[in-house]
Order: sequence, then C-alpha cells, then structure tokens
Amino acid sequence: MKISTSSKLQLLLFLGFILFGVSVKAQNEAYSSETTQEIADTTFVNLKEYSNDFIYDMKYATEDNFLKAKVYDCAECLLRYKTVKALIAANKEFMKQGCKIKLFDCYRPLSIQKKMWEIVSNPKYVADPKKGSIHNRGGAVDITVVNAYGIELEMGTDFDFFGIQASHNYTKLPVSVKANRKYLKTVMIKNGFNSFDSEWWHYNLKAGLNDKVSNQKWKCD
Ligand SMILES: [Zn+2]
Repeated sequence: MKISTSSKLQLLLFLGFILFGVSVKAQNEAYSSETTQEIADTTFVNLKEYSNDFIYDMKYATEDNFLKAKVYDCAECLLRYKTVKALIAANKEFMKQGCKIKLFDCYRPLSIQKKMWEIVSNPKYVADPKKGSIHNRGGAVDITVVNAYGIELEMGTDFDFFGIQASHNYTKLPVSVKANRKYLKTVMIKNGFNSFDSEWWHYNLKAGLNDKVSNQKWKCD
C-alpha cells in the first residue's frame, strides 16, 4: 500500500499527539501520587519546614533554663506531624489578631527528661521519665503569645516558674494577665490541645497522648 507524503505527515502528527498525551498523563499520575502520598500523622517532622510564622526561644538550647545547662545542640522544634498541623492552625488564629506563638520547647528526648527529673522530682512540674512526658511523645509544646511588636503578652510568671502562680487555677492575678492566659488557652483548646493545670505555658495535643515515648536527636546545620 502506498502512503502519500501528506498521509505520512498526518500519521506522524497523530502518533505525536498520542505520545504527547501519554507523557502528560504519566506526569499527571506522578504528580498526583506525590500529592496523595500523605505524611503519616505520627511521623516526627521539623516545624520550620511547614511554617515560618513562629517565634523561637528554645530555652533548653541555651543556659537560660532551670537546668542551667544547654542540653539541646541547636534550637529546633521537632513534633509529630499531627501536632505541627494543629499548632499551625492555632497560630493562624493568633495571627488574625496580629499575634504569634512563641515556642519555648517542643519534642524533648527522654534522656533530657531524666536530667530534668533529677533536678525537679515533682510530677506537678516535671513528668516522671518512667511514664514519660507528652513532650517525649512529640505531642506537647511550651509556648506563649507575642503581639505584633514581638513582645510577649504578660502571663504573670516566667516560663518554667515552678510555683502556684503559674497555675491556671491561681486567680490572684491582674485582670489583663488572666485575659491573656484565657486567650492562649481558648485558641489552643479550639485547635485540639489540652491545657495543663500547673503550667500556663504547657499544651498537649489530645490526639497525641498515647503515642510512643521517643529518644532521638535532631539534625543541626
Ligand atoms: Zn511542657
């Protein structure tokens, strides 16, 4: 059978379209499989890879803490992915009011929990490493709120103040302090966290209470 030049051209164009179509389809499949490949909720991730909207003041990466020792090599906030998602949602809510979350502590290796327990063996303030803290499970954060100028809202005590004044149940505080604590607590609870009675700064992800305790180091640049 003789094929004319124009028919050959048409055939080539036709084949070209098919190949083009196939390659586009293949690319789409690869793309969609990437997007549908969700990270497991329990995977440990670094918060900064998901948001740049947090203020970092990681106290245990400095000597400015009750251990009086720098126990983290660098100031990173590692958490389980589900904790990161809930924390970002909470931060977005604070940002609507011109505020942001400031982080003091996130995931805490079990070995550090043991060091803390040696200094403060009081479960009101430091979880017994035998049970493990929700920090060791990647589901707890120690935080406060800063305003649009980066200034911390007055919360009545410093972070890691181990006394009754740090409790949510302590009422002998200025009205503004009580309002600030309530603001922090309301937004966090709305986004899936529980408060902790004796520490205004501590929040546990409700969905993270039963995860495994972990003892790992994170990468420092
Ligand atoms: Zn805490």
